[in-house]
Amino acid sequence: DQVAGPQVGRDPREVLAEVFGYDAFRGEQEDIIRQVIGGGDAVVLMPTGGGKSICYQIPSLVREGTGIVLSPLVALMHDQVAALQLVGVRAAALNAAMSIEDRRAVEQAYRDGQLDVLYLAPERLSAPGTVELLAQGRIALFAIDEAHCVSQWGHDFRPDYLRLGALAERWPDVPRIALTATATPETHREITERLHLQRARHFVSSFDRPNIRYRIESKQNARAQLINFVRGEHAGEAGIVYALSRKRVEQTAAALRDAGVDAVAYHAGLPAHVRLDAQTRFLREDGVVVVATIAFGMGIDKPDVRFVAHIDLPKSVEGYYQETGRAGRDGLPSDTWLAYGLQDVVQQRQMIESGDGDQATRASQTRHLNAMLALCEGVQCRRVFLLRYFGEERTEPCGNCDVCLTPPKLWDATIPSQMLLSTVIRTQKERNRTYAAGQHIDVLRGVTSERATQMRLDELSTWGIGTEWSVAQWRGVVRHLLAAGLLEAQGEWGVLAPTEAAKPVLRGEEAVMMREEVVTRASSGGRGRA
Ligand code: ADP
Ligand code: ZN
Repeated sequence: DQVAGPQVGRDPREVLAEVFGYDAFRGEQEDIIRQVIGGGDAVVLMPTGGGKSICYQIPSLVREGTGIVLSPLVALMHDQVAALQLVGVRAAALNAAMSIEDRRAVEQAYRDGQLDVLYLAPERLSAPGTVELLAQGRIALFAIDEAHCVSQWGHDFRPDYLRLGALAERWPDVPRIALTATATPETHREITERLHLQRARHFVSSFDRPNIRYRIESKQNARAQLINFVRGEHAGEAGIVYALSRKRVEQTAAALRDAGVDAVAYHAGLPAHVRLDAQTRFLREDGVVVVATIAFGMGIDKPDVRFVAHIDLPKSVEGYYQETGRAGRDGLPSDTWLAYGLQDVVQQRQMIESGDGDQATRASQTRHLNAMLALCEGVQCRRVFLLRYFGEERTEPCGNCDVCLTPPKLWDATIPSQMLLSTVIRTQKERNRTYAAGQHIDVLRGVTSERATQMRLDELSTWGIGTEWSVAQWRGVVRHLLAAGLLEAQGEWGVLAPTEAAKPVLRGEEAVMMREEVVTRASSGGRGRA
């Protein structure tokens, strides 16, 4: 009972009401939609749940031709197609998993102008015949979903995305809209450059999710802490628990069930019917908790998820924000909870080192991990940190995160930080050589050695000025400065160097406050293992 192309040329508000059943656009949706309908390009940065899909779906309906949507997630693609077909939109997908007959049928429908929306995996574009196929039909627009995948510095780089810039040359008159929920300012710039969106209008929504409360705890007994959190604060409510491995997912789901929580496991290694069953129960029943790897949640649209918990450290702030963003889409108060320990850090660093990525990939993964650690160890309002990470400047503490609600005990580490930074700068400048953290600490503590004498470190003005603090405390300071982004470890050897952000500290304009527990942890843990 699908009607052919009845929406072409219609007012987007009518389409919103009649096809999608909503009374009003949200945020910048209408501006974005009008920009694309008018033939202009758009770059859209909007948080998860913000309503990105209709920003390309409505223009696909209103403009003549088929909207081509490039989306990296095949599973998500099928959900979207099914949802669109349900409301009478002529949608289809082309991907490698389909049978030849199905593919042929979709291709023919496209050529015949029988499709409003066609989803393609980006790698399809480089498959033989795809460009020719597209040229045989009429294209309403290109939508590039998850556009951050084009960024090599991003947390989710996909080489196929690099080819998407060529669309601009092949089809210069077709409007293009790039969308993402996870763009830092650098990624935003890369999206614009690499997708040739220099003439686009940019729509950057606030990333703030005021109803979400952020909380990050240090890990003692993760499972017990999690059970406490779920039973104590969210009994009988729907939630998602993320873990990094399949084994952890299963163990955690079992532990929650033993504790009387209605928990189901979800990961890519489970049979399809088990996954579907878990997903269906989560969506249809009340109070089901899904324990999952990050594969879960993409495209799942459940408004009343009351909490999102992480029992393992997420690999990036982008991932953390996207996952926590699945809580509270209905706008009601919702909790996020993360437990992390030094073991997480050690384990993830090892995973990066032993991974199959090249040097650049490892460097990027390390940068993302460090940002995540900076969030965890930070002493400022979590929301201020998160929004700043995504390029939104905000200074007022939010009053709805753990730091605001129960401020951590702090240690004023300004003086040792200045000493350490000065030492790093002096060894950089005066000797034109590089030193490991341990050597800087030796300088500060005035530890004499043959090497120190030989390198004339004892002539440095910071020699021996930091004997007041233990080696462990100094290590804590180094870790904190790294986590806080005042120091960075550069290059293959991890050479320490101060960042721009260190300047106000060196000038005495800004204090460095550390969590007291960081210092304690450093002194009990010492070097190496957590
Ligand atoms: P995103 O892709 O940005 O994560 P979606 O496009 O999946 O978000 O939209 C999130 C939810 O908001 C969906 O349930 C969608 O139907 C709903 N939605 C989008 N736009 C509107 C609107 N204008 N009014 C009401 N609900 C909307
Ligand atoms: Zn806060």
